[in-house]
Amino acid sequence: MDLRDPAFREPFLSSLPHSPGVYVMRNAAGQVLYVGKALDLFSRVNSYFRASGDTRSFVSRLPSEMADLEIWVTQSEREALLLENTLIKELKPRYNVRLRDDRSYLMIRVQAAHPWPRFETARGLPQEDGARYFGPYHAASAVHFFLSFIGRYFRFRTCSDAVFATRRKPCLQYHMGRCEAPCSRNVDAAAYRRRVEKAMLYLEGRFERLMRDVRREMKQASADLEFEKAAQLRDLLFALEKCAQPQQVITSDFVPTDAVGFVREGPHLSLVVLEIRQGQLGVHRQMVVEVPEELYDAEILSTFLFQHYASRTETPGRLLLPFAPEAAADLAAWLGEAAGAPVEVVTTVVDEAHVRLLRLAEVNAQHRLTLHNELEVEADLARLSTRLHLPGVPKRIECYDISHSQGKDTSASMVVFIDGRPAPRLYRQFHVRDVAPGDDYGALREVMARRLEHVAEKNWELPDLMVIDGGRGQLRAITQILSDLQSQIGSDLQSQIGSGEKNGLDLSGVKVISLAKQHGSDGPPERVFLPGVKEPLPILPGSREMFILVRLRDEAHRFANRARTRRQEKTFSSRLSEVPGLGPKRVTTLLTAFGSVERIRTADPAEIAKAGHFSLDLAQKILAFLNA
Ligand code: SF4
Repeated sequence: MDLRDPAFREPFLSSLPHSPGVYVMRNAAGQVLYVGKALDLFSRVNSYFRASGDTRSFVSRLPSEMADLEIWVTQSEREALLLENTLIKELKPRYNVRLRDDRSYLMIRVQAAHPWPRFETARGLPQEDGARYFGPYHAASAVHFFLSFIGRYFRFRTCSDAVFATRRKPCLQYHMGRCEAPCSRNVDAAAYRRRVEKAMLYLEGRFERLMRDVRREMKQASADLEFEKAAQLRDLLFALEKCAQPQQVITSDFVPTDAVGFVREGPHLSLVVLEIRQGQLGVHRQMVVEVPEELYDAEILSTFLFQHYASRTETPGRLLLPFAPEAAADLAAWLGEAAGAPVEVVTTVVDEAHVRLLRLAEVNAQHRLTLHNELEVEADLARLSTRLHLPGVPKRIECYDISHSQGKDTSASMVVFIDGRPAPRLYRQFHVRDVAPGDDYGALREVMARRLEHVAEKNWELPDLMVIDGGRGQLRAITQILSDLQSQIGSDLQSQIGSGEKNGLDLSGVKVISLAKQHGSDGPPERVFLPGVKEPLPILPGSREMFILVRLRDEAHRFANRARTRRQEKTFSSRLSEVPGLGPKRVTTLLTAFGSVERIRTADPAEIAKAGHFSLDLAQKILAFLNA
């Protein structure tokens, strides 16, 4: 794979995830050109290849220089910032600003000894001046991110010492609610100092302790009827919860830990090693390799681990694995010998932080594999066509998922893949109208009729392949439905358009299959049913082309679930106004304050009462309604 070739680059870039993370660009010789972080990897990396107004000289050279791109998905922008910092130090990319001398270091400086400290950017190494320093940070954007969070939630002065000493009236910062104006107003110095301590905990990443303090103070403020202060603390708590989530994935005991992600699809195996050092995500390893179909996962994992750690100079104190490798005890003993101390090899992970780390490793392995697979979709489609005995390579594939909400509100989700890739702009939801609850065949019939009518009415193209979630029964039903509809809709169309053709709707080019999970069996978990073929085709780990079908079906489930959640949110918000005393205005106020019905549902009654400016009694009624 060489991303200098647009034929490879375009599909590769279009399948990047919309997740926060870090990207590493390399040239054909494997040298690292640039390391960057993004809140949305898809948008950021794609922007380098569009006319984005980025005038940095290296950007124009990337299309001809960048041959490989590695991405690391993180769970927040903050985590991406820290990882970017680590990788820049480690990899020394050609186009990142180098820290050639001390003056290039970017730090955050806190005048801890000043009675009214401020947080500011500093360049160069820490000085012996009584101040506290945090960093270094490689990007000004990192410093800006941390300082703007502190400015918004802790409200310290931002003015220079000289201005502070002479100022007699608050400046704009005070009027914007960003500073309490200790320059000219009577501000509680002890409370200011306590906030400084909290902000320093934030910069150190010690969120748990910080959240505990904030929670305690918030309760006290509520008890003292200081509602404005309690609301400010609540906002801080929400913001900290967001920051703290990714931090929880990091081990708190500072044992050097490696977490391994293992994802196998067809002949390809994606392996990722996350390294956690000093409680932070560190450098990693990731690879996609081809493995013979007959090798067991436990055997492959064991071989990989022995090879990986034989080439490493550092051995972790703990190894988190998704499952037990072959010869696990030998591996632990061998690693312990290399480390000079016992190494904990964990194969059944229970600690919550460890579970999250393994999950992050798996997510990264999955993304790497998806990007790798993207480049081989055309070849997979051709193989799929042969396996399914199709007349040609299917250009448009549709998959349908029928779902209900507690037996009611039946709907069908249609997802479409064009040339083997998802085409979300063509996804559709059908709300089933004329069928009794639970009648899935009836629902399928109605949806098919409506979908086929759109061929003439809305110029919808017919699919080359239609995939139904289910076994032989569902396949038989859909084949019958399509056959009935062909004559029914076909003759309707013919009479409408007065065509001289024999049939207004030709479904002969539409092939139909079904895909079912096999439960309670040792055999392959997924099977494909073909019309007129007695035995279903198993989806074996080695048959990568068949995983297009699994991806398609999973996408249909995901789309259906998302649509269902949205419908529930809509129903709840419209029904909320049925609670006596809660009109549309108050519903809007609540939704604005909490962002979603789900968040209201899990909130404290006092919080709801405060946000909606009404009584505790009404807040409790709302909760009773939402939790009924
Ligand atoms: S309000 Fe006063 S203390 Fe605050 S930034 Fe402005 S001048 Fe400084």
